[in-house]
Amino acid sequence: MAVDIESRRKRMVDRQVVARGIRDPVLLEAMRMVPREAFVPENLAEFAYDDSPLPIAEGQTISQPFIVATMIEAAEVGPGDKVLEVGAGSGYAAAVLSRIAGRVFGIERHRSLAEAAEKRLARLGYDNVTIIAGDGSGGLPDEAPFDAILVAARGAEVPEALKRQLKVGGRLVIPVGGEDVQDLCRITRISETRWETDDLGPVRFVPLIGTYGLAEDGSRAAKDHRPARDLPLPELVARHAEPLPEIDHPGFAEAFDRFADHRIVMLGEASHGTHEFYAARAAITRRFVERHGFTIIAVEADWPDAAAIDRYIGHGPARPGAPPSFQRFPTWMWRNTVVAQLADDLRAYNAKLAGPARRVGFYGLDIYNMSGSISAVLAYLDQTDPEAAKVARERYGCLTPWQAEPSVYGRVALSRGYAECEQAVVAQCRELLERALAERDDGDGLLDAAMNARLVASAERYYRIMYYGGAESWNLRDSHMAETLEYLLDAKGPDAKALVWAHNSHIGDARATDMGAARGEHNIGQLIREKFADEVALIGFGTHTGTVTCATDWDGHTETKRVLPSRRDSYERVCHDTGMPRFVLRPAADEALRRRLAEPLLERFIGVIYRPETERWSHYSEAVLPAQFDAYVWFDETRAVTPLAEEHLPGHVPDTYPFGL
Ligand code: SAM
Repeated sequence: MAVDIESRRKRMVDRQVVARGIRDPVLLEAMRMVPREAFVPENLAEFAYDDSPLPIAEGQTISQPFIVATMIEAAEVGPGDKVLEVGAGSGYAAAVLSRIAGRVFGIERHRSLAEAAEKRLARLGYDNVTIIAGDGSGGLPDEAPFDAILVAARGAEVPEALKRQLKVGGRLVIPVGGEDVQDLCRITRISETRWETDDLGPVRFVPLIGTYGLAEDGSRAAKDHRPARDLPLPELVARHAEPLPEIDHPGFAEAFDRFADHRIVMLGEASHGTHEFYAARAAITRRFVERHGFTIIAVEADWPDAAAIDRYIGHGPARPGAPPSFQRFPTWMWRNTVVAQLADDLRAYNAKLAGPARRVGFYGLDIYNMSGSISAVLAYLDQTDPEAAKVARERYGCLTPWQAEPSVYGRVALSRGYAECEQAVVAQCRELLERALAERDDGDGLLDAAMNARLVASAERYYRIMYYGGAESWNLRDSHMAETLEYLLDAKGPDAKALVWAHNSHIGDARATDMGAARGEHNIGQLIREKFADEVALIGFGTHTGTVTCATDWDGHTETKRVLPSRRDSYERVCHDTGMPRFVLRPAADEALRRRLAEPLLERFIGVIYRPETERWSHYSEAVLPAQFDAYVWFDETRAVTPLAEEHLPGHVPDTYPFGL
């Protein structure tokens, strides 16, 4: 009997498959190996090698052997490939695929079929194939991308999500058309944004029933006929999202050119430790500097620290005796490989300029480094006005005991009523600002000193009010950032254009999140939008999962942690369910999309601390995405940013300038 079956199988391959022109030896060998009789109902076993489809349970069919071979050949499945089959039915095609490819996933909407198929494959010992019960019309985003996707059921059109789950170079084979006859189509992904279709001839399949396919009765509930309000949200997002190529592809930054006519472009991040957020912003920044005349890069770092990078890219000397930059926790936020490379590139860019007018500068908006700023103000005055330096020393004297640990100052100030300290630092700040305004032509030396004096004044107040808790200290910090940006724009003249790098929680309009709605907090995105209206573009960034550089506690050591897959009730999950690896979305560009996305969902915020154990309460907050951002950039999977090791320091400058390691 066994011999008989085997010879019938060989005959089937020769007469039905080889004779019709299929030549791939690996495929033919696989078909000679898989016992098709194990995949058909027992009472039909004797017909297993007939040249036809056969009925299986749930009113479905096992495809004709030749069709299985045709689809696998068309999909050019090869050794090592990762393959998805939608409509696994009996599991036969998946079994043949598993003898050729490295890893096979099959999805079947009938649970009973899926379970039977899974058992059969396990019995045969085919351990590189997994059968999942569910709707596969949207593919299998969790396992994407695939080298090949085969769909064993007909659609009225090709589901976008399936196309996007192909690797570049990957092939999707799917029957497309009406009820009676369909065209077998092969769609090849030729780049991140382009696909090519080949028509392989007429076929006849059962309907692909599901969210991205047809209705239960097989009628065309095709998405084109469904109004936006009836579409699943991920599909609506996928329709409007623009796929992005890999970050180092020139097409990536180019996709942001549409924002280049704004005066201020703010680039966010959903964590302070994600490589892709840094790399994407660096790519956009390079392009906007080189092609669109942006000369201000203002970041969520302290002024005196960023000034070291500014001097480096502007070919200025390091400030003698300056304390090393970016020594404060969290060091990886700016001392990382992406920022170091960007600094080198901007330095090279500035070197090629004929004069200083178009020189690009790098500035810090934040307020923590009080001691760095005090020493910068004093150094400036020592050089330019020793008498004024004496006065400044006295004024800052009351802060001296607390410079190393300004947070202690807050507690002491509260108990002793440190009004004199406040007045002194405010007076110093006012004086330098007035001079900076009066002597505009002094160049960046005076502006730098004035901005440091502002930082000291803001930091004094910040550390003092931090002890009250509540929104006030956050608001002071973001107001300081917004004002610093305005000073910069002002100082560089009416044509100056700025890029801002800061966390989503700073640049996404606070009125659209719990921050503004529930906690009374504002942020730089909101303040600048209120003032500059359409001249500003707020661009948020997000991810589903991956790894992140972070710490468990403030001042803790640097760790790499896994980012949990996003929650089901989050915007991140909606983006993940599009099946697209990278995209940019303008959430308010289409009214129907805006309305659907305006129903609040959770959004994840990871700062420098990440606590997956309490993720819901530590990191998620409610938001209204289309009001928060003008655009949202998606990376489905991301990795931890690489902190700078000594060997990565910009090599050609002595004393490890500008990072001062
Ligand atoms: N390749 C299968 C085999 O070798 O037995 C034959 C599959 S049969 C022609 C098509 C299968 O697609 C049916 O079992 C049907 O239930 C399944 N199907 C239809 N729509 C589906 C969907 N949205 N997701 C998963 N399976 C689906």
